[in-house]
Amino acid sequence: MTATPLSATLFAYQVGFGDCFLLRLTYTDGTRRHMLIDFGTTSLPVDAPKDQMVRIARDIETKCTESGGSGLDIVVATHRHADHVSGFATNARGTGTGDIIAGLKPSVVIQPWTEAAEAPVDWEGPGGSAAKPAFRRHARTLKAIEETARNALRFVDNAEKAKAISPSLAAQMRFIGEDNLSNASAVNNLKIMGKRTEYVFHGCKLDLSGELPGVTVDVLGPPTLRQTETIRKQVARNKDEFWQLAARRMGQAADIGSGTALFPGAPAFSGKRMPVEYRWLQHRIDETSAEVALGIVRALDDQMNNTSVILVLRAGTKTLLFPGDAQWENWAYALQSPLAALLDDVDLYKVGHHGSLNATPKSMWNRFKKKGPKSKADRLTSVVSTRKDKHGHEKDNTEVPRRTLMTELKAQSTLHDTEDLGPTGLYEVIEIPLV
Ligand SMILES: [Zn+2]
Repeated sequence: MTATPLSATLFAYQVGFGDCFLLRLTYTDGTRRHMLIDFGTTSLPVDAPKDQMVRIARDIETKCTESGGSGLDIVVATHRHADHVSGFATNARGTGTGDIIAGLKPSVVIQPWTEAAEAPVDWEGPGGSAAKPAFRRHARTLKAIEETARNALRFVDNAEKAKAISPSLAAQMRFIGEDNLSNASAVNNLKIMGKRTEYVFHGCKLDLSGELPGVTVDVLGPPTLRQTETIRKQVARNKDEFWQLAARRMGQAADIGSGTALFPGAPAFSGKRMPVEYRWLQHRIDETSAEVALGIVRALDDQMNNTSVILVLRAGTKTLLFPGDAQWENWAYALQSPLAALLDDVDLYKVGHHGSLNATPKSMWNRFKKKGPKSKADRLTSVVSTRKDKHGHEKDNTEVPRRTLMTELKAQSTLHDTEDLGPTGLYEVIEIPLV
């Protein structure tokens, strides 16, 4: 029997701005199981090898199939942003990084329930028929996000040509815009590569005992529409939750109200303000400042981050937390649920959203009992995959990774940062003994 995992090893790959983590479990009889959590980048390190993503895919292939490996058992795509899924893209010749991963024939692909919009056309989503209209709205929001991203990129091109936008603002918009493009081939590949696909949501039953014997997996997010509804009134912009003092969001400046989107408390466009058509930007290109346009794109970007799967894995004596890029609106539901108790014992924390200011809510962080100074026994380990200077600005305290958060992570946990790998490093190894 392979039922008792002896140790876990986390390979944190150098993807620049993005996430790619391979979790290996080694069992008492020497067999190994593998779970890939995200594989994407929007921005490799400047001096990284051109074929870095292929090198990573090949390395994952080797690791999953070498001694004791049973192939790739599980793929988790936390949400469909390019920096989490671009590595799953295929090409016509069948030589894409996504072809390599699909060739490993994963048994299970785990995605947020919001991706099921792409699956059965009339699926009602968790929550039954009451959620149906809202689910459809969400499917439309998803399309609107992609459409808006495309429009934003055109807007930037035009604005740049007309010298109507600063280079730094243009770079910011382009970066977020590209992250939100549809990633169609990756999304399709994820839909079909698994022997089965699990569309998960807060509290759903997820039985992975066949793939990861001896491991308990709980899903903390994303909430379903019905679950979100219950916290609608509670969601407040509590500045103490965030890692900055003066959080003046571009979104707020753009007069973003709550509306029909998936997370009602989150910044979103509603009704007539929904910027779905190219026409909309065309008509307003003269009257809309580039900063407002950036606000639009940012708000939609946040919506997508909030569809992130949040997983808690318990194996042996250890608890591992993988929250994708979940931001406050996703966390808000998990934190008031009984499952929040799982956070108390977290041993390994994959830092949310590359270290951004609002993806590590303080009410979550404060639950971690194992955080503390270097001298602390069984100290918390944290791992962040990030690249500086791609997201946010220092001048308004929105830079990613957020300086104050990184300082806290360094002081209170053993921090692994993919930036320390340098541009040519392939991965960092984090050993997690489970007994
Ligand atoms: Zn991300």
